[in-house]
Amino acid sequence: MRYSGFRILKEALTGHKGWRPVWRSPEPKPQYDIVIVGGGGHGLATAYYLASKFGQARVAVIEKGWIGGGNVGRNTTIIRSNYLLDGNEPFYEFSLKLWEGLEQDLNYNAMVSQRGILNLIHTDAQRDAYTRRGNAMLLQGADEQYLSTDQIRREYPVLNFNDARFPLKGGLAQRRGGTVRHDAVAWGYARGADLRGVDIIQNCEVTGFRIENGICRGVETSRGFIGAGKVGVAVAGSSSRVMAQAGLRLPIESHVLQAFVSEGLKPVMPGVITFGAGHFYCSQSDKGGLVFGGDLDGYNSYAQRGNLPVVEDVAEGAMALIPGLGRVRLLRMWAGVMDMSMDGSPIIDRTPVEGLYFNGGWCYGGFKATPASGWCFAHLLATDTPHPTATAYRLDRFRKGLMIDEKGMGAQPNLH
Ligand SMILES: Cc1cc2nc3c(=O)[nH]c(=O)nc-3n(C[C@H](O)[C@H](O)[C@H](O)COP(=O)(O)OP(=O)(O)OC[C@H]3O[C@@H](n4cnc5c(N)ncnc54)[C@H](O)[C@@H]3O)c2cc1C
Repeated sequence: MRYSGFRILKEALTGHKGWRPVWRSPEPKPQYDIVIVGGGGHGLATAYYLASKFGQARVAVIEKGWIGGGNVGRNTTIIRSNYLLDGNEPFYEFSLKLWEGLEQDLNYNAMVSQRGILNLIHTDAQRDAYTRRGNAMLLQGADEQYLSTDQIRREYPVLNFNDARFPLKGGLAQRRGGTVRHDAVAWGYARGADLRGVDIIQNCEVTGFRIENGICRGVETSRGFIGAGKVGVAVAGSSSRVMAQAGLRLPIESHVLQAFVSEGLKPVMPGVITFGAGHFYCSQSDKGGLVFGGDLDGYNSYAQRGNLPVVEDVAEGAMALIPGLGRVRLLRMWAGVMDMSMDGSPIIDRTPVEGLYFNGGWCYGGFKATPASGWCFAHLLATDTPHPTATAYRLDRFRKGLMIDEKGMGAQPNLH
């Protein structure tokens, strides 16, 4: 349905009885050209671009729960393109450009807010590393700016500049980075896809793949078999479990990541900051709550809840940077399951099973990738060739030694 000022007025005067669901709830058809498994941000964006940019009409998204119930509705909403490596930076910059035009494209308010992101620097070696990163960003056409301690003091007086355990020595800023309302992204893509004829089928779990002579013919689901010319899987934290149903073992581990929101405060945090001497990052929502997070819970898990050691670790990072936070009350916390790849970078590729395609390994940075991931996966599904910005995201790169290891951590998924 369409929204307008007139519509709001009319509904207000007639008891709000005319609002309709934003997308249909169709019965699954027996056969589609393309079936997307997973109705998170990436699955919905893929379906939207398949229909809107690649002229694919017979597309379905199969979601075991409800739209927005996975990581797309659980993340801390940060978008940025401050990557170092050639395999990553053009892709994330493409994504940031898509974010910049997303609301006009979808005709939906996703609260895209380019309030800026600032990576704080605490050592001279870190300054060298961030200078190198900033140069790599400039070479790929992204924006970056080095901020001195005085500039940071003017913009973020809430940070600790006096007797800090880890003194602030500057920062790498990306002014075009920022935040986006995460669940509105899912709803906007769902609405846009539905308007173009995509069937979004919720409460329908994929339980297997029908593979005949090495070719994927469709998916077995809790609501019966659904035939498909091609199947694209985008199930984030469930990647290993779902792809195992096709007999594939992925270079991915699942780990829990927690997030936290404080009570509402007056504006203290104009953009997003990341601590450079521990794992802590923070922004302030439009309602006033500080939204923050830190490290993964270190163990493998599919539980969408975390444990206390990481809560303590995040609180330590927060207190080292903003001691005043110690007096702020925590309002809520939650967790999501992350598909951590061996080199910390994603996969958008065909699989050894013909007609079966995979999108995953987003680690804890997949929200910012949503538009480009959807576009590139749609490109691959529609044309059978990788999008130019996603050519490095191949499944066989681990076998060939072509890792895209942003952090230089090696094959240690919980450290990426
Ligand atoms: C606490 C937290 C903070 C984060 N912060 C950020 C951030 O600030 N910036 C950033 O860029 N990224 C962030 N991320 C990461 C980001 O949220 C994810 O990488 C991204 O959302 C994953 O893609 P998705 O939206 O498609 O996943 P999801 O929304 O999880 O979608 C996958 C869907 O697949 C469905 N599914 C699973 N199995 C099946 C099945 N068998 N059949 C049918 N459907 C199935 C699930 O129900 C789910 O809805 C964060 C994540 C968390 C948890």
